Parts: sequence; C-alpha cells; structure tokens
Amino acid sequence: MKKHRYALPGFAVLAALMTSGAASGEPVIIDHVTLIDGTGRAAKPDSAVVVEGGKFTVVGPSILARDLPGRRIDGTGKYLIPGLFDVHIHLAGFSPLAKDKDRAPGSKDGKWVVDRKEGEQALASYLYAGVTTVLDVGNIPENILPLRADERAGKLLAPHIFATGNLVTYPGSHGTDIAVNVSSWPEAEAQLQQQYDSQHPDVLKITYDDEGWGSRPLIPILPKDLLQHIVEFYNLHGVRTTVHVSNESRALEAIYSGVDTLAHTPIQGPLTEGFVQMAAAKQIPFATTMMIGDNYSRLHEHPEYLDQPLYAATMKPEERSRLKKLVADGGETALRNSKPLYQRTWRRWMKTQTPILEDNLRRIDEAGGVIATGTDGSNGAGEQRELELLAEAGVPPLHVIKAATYNGARFIGKQETMGSIEEGKIADAVLLSADPLADIGNCKSILMVMKAGEIVDESKLSLAGGPQARRMP
Ligand SMILES: [Zn+2]
Repeated sequence: MKKHRYALPGFAVLAALMTSGAASGEPVIIDHVTLIDGTGRAAKPDSAVVVEGGKFTVVGPSILARDLPGRRIDGTGKYLIPGLFDVHIHLAGFSPLAKDKDRAPGSKDGKWVVDRKEGEQALASYLYAGVTTVLDVGNIPENILPLRADERAGKLLAPHIFATGNLVTYPGSHGTDIAVNVSSWPEAEAQLQQQYDSQHPDVLKITYDDEGWGSRPLIPILPKDLLQHIVEFYNLHGVRTTVHVSNESRALEAIYSGVDTLAHTPIQGPLTEGFVQMAAAKQIPFATTMMIGDNYSRLHEHPEYLDQPLYAATMKPEERSRLKKLVADGGETALRNSKPLYQRTWRRWMKTQTPILEDNLRRIDEAGGVIATGTDGSNGAGEQRELELLAEAGVPPLHVIKAATYNGARFIGKQETMGSIEEGKIADAVLLSADPLADIGNCKSILMVMKAGEIVDESKLSLAGGPQARRMP
C-alpha cells in the first residue's frame, strides 16, 4: 500500500480512509472506469468508484482514489452502470387455481401451490442479468412475502425485493385471482386494513381497466370513487400506489384520482399531445412493459433468441425446448389466464400495438416525462429485452439507462438512497466490458454485478439453466 496523500482528497475520501480496516469490510475500488451514473449525466471516463459498508463512498476522477487502500478492480476499457430495476414483475413460483381447465397445471383443490425453488430461480435470473431491484406488482402473499423477508434478513441471494403482495381490484375486473376484491366504500376499508396489516405492501397495486387487456372481451371496472378511496387509504399509511391501465382515458382518470405511478403505459392507441404534456408536467413515472407483448411474436418469428446466453442460463432447458417445439408445431404460446380462442388474436394484437406503445414511451421521454423499465415478466433476461425495445423505440441509450436505474428508484420512491452511482447511495452496480451507449445490447456484456456493496458470486446463484461460472476472474 502506498503512502496516503492527505493533501489531495476531499472529506469523503478522508472518511473512507478512516473507516477502512477490517478485512471483511475491505473497500472495493473500481478505477479508470467509464462511469454512467444513471442520472442521465454524460459518461465520465477515467472515474473511480469506492464502495464501503454497502454504499458508494467516493465517486469521482480516478486520481481521488489513487492511494486508497482496498481491493482494486481495474476498470480500464470497462463501463460501470447502476444496478438495473424491473418495476413490474410477477415473480414465478405459484400455480393458479385448478377450477379453470385452460389454466396451467400444478394447482389442486382450489388452492395455490407455491414452489419456492422456482421463485428463487427467478430471483437469481434477475441478479445474473444485472437487475438488483425488483418490484412485484401482484402475486400471492405466500409466494412473494417469505422471499422478501428472507432477502431483507440476508438469508437469500436475490435482488432487493419490493412487493405489493395481493393487488386490489373490483370483482370481475383485471387480476381478481391475485387480488383483494373490493366493491364498495366504507365496507372496503376493513379489507384494505387487513391487507396492509398482514402484507405490508411497499407499493400498492390497483387495477383500473375495462379493456380486458389485449384481445380479450371487455370486463367490469373498479368505480372511480372507490379507486380514489383506495389510493387515499394507502397514501395515508405512507404507501405509494401504482395502477394497471391500458388506455389514455382510464390513465388520466387514475392520475386525477391520485395514483402515484402507472404500472403500464397506455397501449390501446397513440397518446394525445395533451396527455404527453401532462405526463411531463406531473412527473408521474410510467412503467414501460413492452417485453411481455413483444415476446409473443418474437417467439414465433425468432425462436432462436432462446439460445442467447442469458436465456440459456436463466431458463430450464426443458422449458426452452417446449417453447421451440410449440412454435415449430404451429401452436400458440399459452397465455396463462386466457382461453385458447384468444391466444392467436392476442399475438397479432400485441404485434400491432407494441410499436404504438414504443412510440408513446418515446414521446413521454422526449417531453421530459419519467419512464421506468418494467417487463411484466419473471426473468432477468426479459429486462435486457426491455432495454433493447426502448432503444428500438428511439429513446437515446443514456435515457434508456436512466429509465432502467434512477427512474426505477423514483417509481418506488427510493431515489434518495438508490438508483444512481452517487456518494452515499446503496452500492448496486453492473460492470460491463463494452460501451452501452454505443449499443444498448452491451448492457448484456456483464463482467460483475454488485448488490449493496457485495460482488455477486454467479457460481452461488440457483439458476434454472444450471450452475454458471463467475464472469470476472
Ligand atoms: Zn402485470
């Protein structure tokens, strides 16, 4: 270790010097790296990032960290971005009710079946793909909540998990099978109190949609005054809300009923200019959720994507084979809670509507609004696809990275402590071997994933595709 040069460093560096010591808490210093900090600021070459106690303690020019003690990672020719966020997932690991024959197998006696291993594998897939934070916006409590508790207790190698538990909706509306179904106020209040007390949602998800989603028939919708009561109830308990919508008019009603974020961006048609301006003026975060719709036609037109390394590592081999065979045989991807009749129209509908959704997102971003990446899926590889689709939409790579990091933190309300590489924030980061600003696909060139200051050991991840080697020696 070189002699300390006390004359040069600022306060933060001195603080880092004073607190370093114990071998277990040895600082990690990534120097000479090109830093893309997630805030939308331009990339900074020859940067140093020091991590200690789970946080970024020094972020600045490499010279600042020149003489600091710690484990050094040479970032020459490499790129550091914040850990990615997926703000719209439904973590796998539960099978639906058996009463409907069109549904997936695995459930019995009208009860949910929880498969803990499947949930753990899905969580591992996120870390492997560079996703260090997920927001689960609708699940069964028995699946997601024990995983959230174990992650927070440090018992489970997984991304930071935020979750709603059950979502809240109206009988017959969207997502009822994983929801607390409420039909009138004030009768609903006791149900909401029960959900809050037993599930402690980090963000409460509501569905407000009569479109049926995709090509399905129209359905009942939550009354608007009830929506407002639900939002108010959770906000009064300090909980942010997010809402499933699919068209502009319902999105506008939801926003003026007080929701904090939108779990989808309208997909039913091009947005009016007024709506785009409102989105920018109110700075409401919109989840992007293009991957789920795009995936139906992608599978039929380019099933070879399943052989990409990220998918091979994070999906069961038999599931990849099943999907390829399904397509080769001329079948349709099973849509879990849709009747076979709608599956073909669903794929075609999504192929038509996804470019419209892409354009809506590009326009919100261009106007200065807040878009945040969410996939509506349960696999980290899907998040990387979401980034590609945003770039394909014409969103500049620097904005795509902001959407996937800082804006994800804004969506959850954690932007003061997460989402960017700045001094004092939780040290979630991804080290890349190629420039993501030259090609957003380079976000897949992962050398190292760090969560809360700890370097993720890929060989310890429980991945569905089998054990993987560490990517950085
Ligand atoms: Zn969803």
